[in-house]
Amino acid sequence: MVLKLNDLQQALESLKKLSLYRSRRVVESVEGNYVQIEGRKVLNFCSNDYLGLANHPDVIKRFKSAADSYGVGSGSAHLVCGHSAEHHALEEELADFTGRDRALIFSTGYMVNLGVIAGLMSKGDVIFQDKLNHASLIDGSKLAGAIFSRYLHNDLANLSIKMQKHQGKQFMIVTDGVFSMDGDQAKVVELSEIAQKKSAYLMVDDAHGFGVLGKNGAGIVEQLKLNQKQVPLLVGTFGKAFGTSGAFVAGSEEIIETLIQKARTYIYTTALPPAIAAATRCSLSLMQAEPWRREQLNYLINYFKAGASQLALPLMSSKTAIQPLLLGGSAEALAASESLFQQGFWVSAIRAPTVPKGSARLRITLSAGHTIEQIDQLLDALDKITR
Ligand SMILES: *Cc1c(COP(=O)(O)O)cnc(C)c1O
Repeated sequence: MVLKLNDLQQALESLKKLSLYRSRRVVESVEGNYVQIEGRKVLNFCSNDYLGLANHPDVIKRFKSAADSYGVGSGSAHLVCGHSAEHHALEEELADFTGRDRALIFSTGYMVNLGVIAGLMSKGDVIFQDKLNHASLIDGSKLAGAIFSRYLHNDLANLSIKMQKHQGKQFMIVTDGVFSMDGDQAKVVELSEIAQKKSAYLMVDDAHGFGVLGKNGAGIVEQLKLNQKQVPLLVGTFGKAFGTSGAFVAGSEEIIETLIQKARTYIYTTALPPAIAAATRCSLSLMQAEPWRREQLNYLINYFKAGASQLALPLMSSKTAIQPLLLGGSAEALAASESLFQQGFWVSAIRAPTVPKGSARLRITLSAGHTIEQIDQLLDALDKITR
């Protein structure tokens, strides 16, 4: 079906009527956790920069000095001539950090997920995914051409029932580590037991766990002490707690070598700028050397949760930096976000299809860079708009 211009206009109008229209705000400058938009300073509560590393002076310095020696662009894909010493060192440091044989850097998390799933799975195989998994994981399954089955959120009994229908095939189980829109955590220990029993691949995308969970910030697998055999495919992204951009998958020698040969989103795209890899190496060392960032973040999370509970705000049950406030309707979520913006707070409204219909929410994200006073101000504003 070809959509004509009139149809597009109509479709856009109907999105507006349903409060599902999406638009962007232009950030004019950044100062700590304040950003300037249309000349106004607002306090940012929707960034995924959980440890406050995106603007860290050392990270910026490393970025600049690497740009001085390598230039801005990487010049080509990794397999042509784009694989620099900065990329290589970052991969080795990530392997060490995660306790895996190897790590492989991709340009984005979206591309890791497409590349890993479609690189390892194909027609006739079966992929099981949590209903609330990130869109990139879902899209990876579609690209693989494998049979694709979604189980109810964190419901292992439901997963088992679905698995019984496909005996004898190669399985892959895929889950977010920390769920990106709910902030709750996957039952990775149990998933790992199921996967090992069925000789299935288990893939954990811990985009929101790295930096935040685990003693050293190595995420949900560090927190739950899960090794490479228990979680063979571990994904992390640099755009969240690392404060930079890009992503990686970590796993065994054989898996990483296979992905180098087969993952099309690795092979057919320009490598990340080496300066980004250099900056990420700096964030990685800060992440480990400065546990106070994680402690401060956890302190603020608990402080926020206690305050929200006192005010009877409809918080979801998350212990991580993602603290969603469930409002239900798209129009309500949008109006709440707008009202907060008018009061000087930037919190985004998350609506369908990013979350299931009827579960629109404010997705509040906290950072080690926030202060108690700022959390108090936010709680006051949330109290006003929900009363
Ligand atoms: C952000 C995110 C991604 C995508 O990562 P990008 O580097 O932004 O493309 C993938 N998975 C999850 C769970 C995410 O939250």
